[in-house]
Amino acid sequence: MNRESVIDELRSSDQPWDIIIIGGGATGMGTALDAASRGYRTLLIEQHDFGKGTSSRSTKLVHGGVRYLRQGDVSMVFEALKERGLMMQNAPHLVRNQSFIIPAYDWWEGPFYTIGLKVYDVMAGKMGFGPSYHISREETIKALPNIETRGLKGGIIYHDGQFDDARMLISLGQTTRKYGGYVINYLKATGLIKEKNLVAGVEARDEESGEEFLIRAKVVINATGVFADTILKMDTPEAGDMIRPSQGIHLVLGEEYLKGSHAIMVPHTSDGRVMFAVPWYNRVVLGTTDTLIDKFSLEPEPLESEIDFVLETAGQYLVKKPERKDVLSAFAGLRPLAAPDSEGKSTKEISRHHKILVSVTGLISVIGGKWTTYRKMAEDALNYAIMVGELPEKPCITHDIKIHGYAIPNEDHINPMSVYGTERQEVESMEVAGQNILSESLQIYPSQIIWAARKEMARSLEDVLARRTRALFLDARESMKIAPQAASLLAGELGKDKEWINAELDNYEKLLKNYLVDN
Ligand SMILES: Cc1cc2nc3c(=O)[nH]c(=O)nc-3n(C[C@H](O)[C@H](O)[C@H](O)COP(=O)(O)OP(=O)(O)OC[C@H]3O[C@@H](n4cnc5c(N)ncnc54)[C@H](O)[C@@H]3O)c2cc1C
Repeated sequence: MNRESVIDELRSSDQPWDIIIIGGGATGMGTALDAASRGYRTLLIEQHDFGKGTSSRSTKLVHGGVRYLRQGDVSMVFEALKERGLMMQNAPHLVRNQSFIIPAYDWWEGPFYTIGLKVYDVMAGKMGFGPSYHISREETIKALPNIETRGLKGGIIYHDGQFDDARMLISLGQTTRKYGGYVINYLKATGLIKEKNLVAGVEARDEESGEEFLIRAKVVINATGVFADTILKMDTPEAGDMIRPSQGIHLVLGEEYLKGSHAIMVPHTSDGRVMFAVPWYNRVVLGTTDTLIDKFSLEPEPLESEIDFVLETAGQYLVKKPERKDVLSAFAGLRPLAAPDSEGKSTKEISRHHKILVSVTGLISVIGGKWTTYRKMAEDALNYAIMVGELPEKPCITHDIKIHGYAIPNEDHINPMSVYGTERQEVESMEVAGQNILSESLQIYPSQIIWAARKEMARSLEDVLARRTRALFLDARESMKIAPQAASLLAGELGKDKEWINAELDNYEKLLKNYLVDN
């Protein structure tokens, strides 16, 4: 992935693209890979960095969605379980099998959830991640040493997947490139080109240089998540809102809050949601919330009430209770939920099914959905794109595409270096003069920064600390400690000067405030 070469392609070629995708999150990247692998001339543009939106801010679960089963949304669960299996099959270096325990405090919970989860297993069929079963009170305490024991009756074990969302995006981008597609960050769609009332391309601005582009295409796909309405309004200014954004936050804690390899799933919090505590890179991710919001931005902020709610709920289930001072990082994401047809639905009731809208102008918008179902969303969107753009019909092949770096890990998958898959050795053996490790506690090496600049289109300090490595999400204060060294390594690669380094550090320090929790 090389940014300059995409800019060169845009400057030099006036041949229209078959497909332009606006938005570099899960939906857009999945769509770019599907389009490129079917053989269409494909371009994806992202206004900021890949994954700056919701797709780096998920709970990191590759799951069928146990709770959708309880809501009776069987088709959603079937689809997501199939996609969960495909993600594991095609990206075992990025997705791992995670065991979850539901602690049972009422006599009926054991049999109730065991039966429900057996159904979940049956629905997964051959692509199952392992059987669910009931465990005794003693076994639950042994597996979850920090679980609240008062009133505990036992537990139910089940399996789902867990992944690194931002790393998955980069690998999808690299796979797209392998099939001849182009992806570029920091190129913003500022308008749509129209011919005879039909969408015929995109007006775009390079956010680094200010250069403007008119990029023609047979089909334009709007995959901008919570920003979808902005693009729809570029198309039809009077269009109504299709998106109902809902915020979810996560708090990251030290691993002592789980003390083991199992995750906890609380099926019914006081506001009727589920809550997870999941091990992630030797930390614990707690979440999430569901808060309707009116204003949305690329950098949403956790609300104080959300932080209190997550800590209080976790405190009801854990002996060592997390407090504000224990939070290593807090991050918020926005669900691009498709607005319900009827008013008055709470957000947890709004379907997570994706919707594909085809405007009369030919603009295709993909909204809603889940990270886990990104591939299916892409397949559906492409099937529409072929019709709208009158492209030669070619079948979807993403079921079996191995994602860049594909490697079956032969060790503890929690090692942060395993995300590089087949390239891990190359990253590890890259010597950086005079520099050893950047962060002991996060296990981040200088070579990762260099690699990110050379191979993964990282352009800023934030890109390397938030998404190429996950330092900002795992431990915000620690990420600030390594920021000066990371900035100077990146500057060396990108040919930037001291002034650039200082500006990057200033920007990063401001951004960091969103991820810190006041005591
Ligand atoms: C709190 C939370 C937890 C979640 N947990 C899970 C989970 O564990 N598992 C799961 O399967 N799903 C989960 N989800 C759902 C999943 O994360 C989202 O469905 C998915 O990431 C949405 O991806 P997207 O590509 O549609 O949107 P985004 O990731 O937001 O991407 C849209 C992109 O479009 C770009 N863009 C916008 N306007 C323009 C423009 N004019 N020009 C160019 N680019 C533009 C944005 O910068 C952005 O990067 C979770 C969601 C939330 C909020």
